Amino acid sequence: MTFDRTVPAPYVPATSRYEGMEYRTVGRSGLKLPAISLGLWHNFGDDKPMATQRQIIHRAFDRGVTHFDLANNYGPPAGSAESNFGRILREDLKSHRDELIISSKAGWNMWSGPYGFGGSRKYLMSSLDQSLERLGLDYVDIFYHHRPDPDTPLEETLYALRDIVNSGKALYVGISSYGPELTAEAAEFMAEEGCPLLIHQPSYSIVNRWVEEPGEDEESLLESAVDNGLGVIAFSPLAQGLLTDRYLKGVPADSRAAAGKSLSEGMLSQENLAMVSQLNDIASERGQTLAQMALAWVLRKQGEFGEQTVASALVGASSVAQLDENLAALDNLEFSEAELAAIDDAASDAGINIWAGATRSKIHDEKN
Ligand code: NDP
Repeated sequence: MTFDRTVPAPYVPATSRYEGMEYRTVGRSGLKLPAISLGLWHNFGDDKPMATQRQIIHRAFDRGVTHFDLANNYGPPAGSAESNFGRILREDLKSHRDELIISSKAGWNMWSGPYGFGGSRKYLMSSLDQSLERLGLDYVDIFYHHRPDPDTPLEETLYALRDIVNSGKALYVGISSYGPELTAEAAEFMAEEGCPLLIHQPSYSIVNRWVEEPGEDEESLLESAVDNGLGVIAFSPLAQGLLTDRYLKGVPADSRAAAGKSLSEGMLSQENLAMVSQLNDIASERGQTLAQMALAWVLRKQGEFGEQTVASALVGASSVAQLDENLAALDNLEFSEAELAAIDDAASDAGINIWAGATRSKIHDEKN
């Protein structure tokens, strides 16, 4: 019997890694994020080969992606994405910790019983401790409350976020899927506490534009974030893969939709696929793939808010090839008025905002 004794060469990041990436200031802060960040919701659990995970992370860092987004429950199983990323950090990126922005979150279901969900101090504090343990870190750069919790007073959640920053376990804090009014209320409260919220993480894409719609006070989430000094990082800008060529010729066996994960086959309706096909044609005319156009659209100049409304598009990728294709979106972020109008004509809400219920679950406290 023979054994392969080849030891893989240690990872050495590309020296050119900061040459091709654009970095955008996050709201009213001193922090910059890469225009494209990588999320580890899917594709980094124990169901995916470690070698592929490692390749994607290496490639991202080699190309200037300094921000990796996690949450306590990413996997499967929940927690495994943090453990796997923690291993890659320890083995390959340890000496580059100060070049990285690593985020985690708590808010959705994590463990059994009354303390593994929501926005209580009890849940947020213990969950962050568990995340740090899995990641092998003393602190995360950004810690988020992952969703509004109607059963916890907003102040309790915000005091917990403030105390987390004071404890040094997170450098900055943010919120995710909060509506416009609750965002404004939370931002004002935290500003008074001397611990400003850094960032909001909402879903946003060509076919899911809730962040542009006026809320109860007529202000959209994008306006509320900008007015209150928060940066925005848009998650699922590819609508989980719908806004790519992935599903134009059926459902590939290795895709998220086939895996029965968060992209249900119901979201791939005839109407949605016809719309995607039209958008694909518009992208081709621009000399981009649909994935590239979808990312460029999220990062486009937004009228009075300027081009930095969205600081970063937070993508997922199941291969290095997908990541490379997505990063090439940065070659053309400009849109003519005619292109924007053509996209608006072709696009409609695809009914894929599965986080809308969480946003609706808690509205501005004064109105309750
Ligand atoms: P995307 O909309 O970018 O979807 C990513 C998926 O699209 C990939 O897994 C892949 O699907 C497919 N894809 C990506 N690039 C290409 C390409 N070039 N060509 C074809 N298919 C492509 O984002 P996600 O939904 O993955 O979310 C991104 C991140 O946002 C998460 O990892 C997480 O960090 C964050 N997030 C936060 C949430 C919150 O509540 N705060 C909720 C959801 C996400 P396939 O796997 O089938 O190949």
